[in-house]
Amino acid sequence: MELARYKGVIKRYFEYLPVSEKTPIVTLLEGNTPLIFSPKLSEILGKKFRVFLKYEGLNPTGSFKDRGMTVAVSKAKEDRQVAVICASTGNTSASASAYAQRAGLKSIVLIPAGAIALGKLAQALIHGAIVIPIKGNFDTALKLVLEISSRFPVRLVNSLNPHRIEGQKTAAFEICDTLSCAPHFHFLPVGNAGNITAYWRGYKEYYHLKKTTHLPVMCGFQASGSAPIVKGHPIKNPKTLATAIRIGNPASWKKAEEARDESGGIIRAVSDKEIVSAYNFLAKQEGVFVEPASAASVAGLLKLNQEGYFKRKLRKMALSGKEINVVCTLTGHGLKDPEIAIKTVKKSKAVEADIKKIAKIAALKEA
Ligand SMILES: *Cc1c(COP(=O)(O)O)cnc(C)c1O
Repeated sequence: MELARYKGVIKRYFEYLPVSEKTPIVTLLEGNTPLIFSPKLSEILGKKFRVFLKYEGLNPTGSFKDRGMTVAVSKAKEDRQVAVICASTGNTSASASAYAQRAGLKSIVLIPAGAIALGKLAQALIHGAIVIPIKGNFDTALKLVLEISSRFPVRLVNSLNPHRIEGQKTAAFEICDTLSCAPHFHFLPVGNAGNITAYWRGYKEYYHLKKTTHLPVMCGFQASGSAPIVKGHPIKNPKTLATAIRIGNPASWKKAEEARDESGGIIRAVSDKEIVSAYNFLAKQEGVFVEPASAASVAGLLKLNQEGYFKRKLRKMALSGKEINVVCTLTGHGLKDPEIAIKTVKKSKAVEADIKKIAKIAALKEA
C-alpha cells in the first residue's frame, strides 16, 4: 500500500529549505491548504478581479504557524536540542507543543495571562507543553524567552528563529504553483510581522528562479489598537479583540517595512469593528470560519476597495484589460476562538419543545 502521497512542506519544497538528507523530518503533513475562490469578494471588487482565500486554518493545528514549526522543530532535533521555548499569543504555542511532542522534545510556552483564546490554550495544554502564564503582555513574554534561550539550552521557536520564516514562505510557493503565476495583490494580517516577511521572501525566490513573471503588491493590516508599524512607534498596551495580532513591538518590524516598500504596497490599520464585520462576512457569505485576526486581511481589502485604492493603483501598474488576482491569507481557524463567535451573533433563547414555536422562530410556513 502506498502511504499518503503528500508528505508535508519540507518534502514538497526540500530544495528551497535549509534542510539536508540528515535532517530528521518532523511533520504532521502541514501545508497544501486550499486556495478558495471567493465569488462574493470578487463581485464586490469588480469584473476583472478574482479574489482567492488561502485558508491556513486547515493546517494540522489550525494556523499557518505549522509551516514554520515543521522546519524549526526538525532543525532543533537535527541539532540535538532537547527542548523548545516560545512566547505566544496562542497559535505559536499550539503549533510548537504539537510538533515538539511529535519529535519527543519538551516544550515550554510563555503566554500573556488571561489574553489567549480558549482553543489555543486547550491545544498547548493537551499536547503536554509546560504552559506558563505571564503577568504581562506578549511583548514582555517575548523578551523573557529571548533571554531564557540565550542562557539555557533550549531552542527558541518564535519567528525570530530563521527556520520559522523559511518554512512559512512555502505558502507563497503554493499560491504561485496553484495559480501558475504570482497574484497581483496579497493581503494579510500583521502581528509580529514574520508572515509578511516570509511571503515576500517566498514570492521573491520564485521570481528570481523565473517561476513567476511578476511580484505581488503586499498589503498588510494591523488592528488599530495595536498598530505600531502604522503609527511609527511601539505601542505599550496594545489592544484589540484579535488576540493573534495584539502585538506592540513586532520582532520583524524592519522586514515588514521592506516587504511593503519593495513591493509598492502598504501597511495600514483596521478597526476591531471592521475586523468583526469581515469575520462575519466570511462566515456568512462564503462559509469560511476564521479567527478574528485572520479577518483583518479581508477587512483591509474591503476598506481599500472602498477608498478607491485599486483604481488608483491599477492605473500606475499598466495592467488594463488583464485579469487581476488577489489573494487574502486567512491565518487561523475560527474554532480557535469560539467565545468571540458566540459573542458577535444573536442567539435565540431556549423554547419549549413545541413545533409551532419552532416554526415561528425559523420563519417556516406549512406546505
Ligand atoms: C501569528 C498569527 C498572526 C500574525 O502573524 P505574524 O507573523 O506574527 O505577523 C495572524 N493571525 C493568526 C491567526 C496568527 O496565528
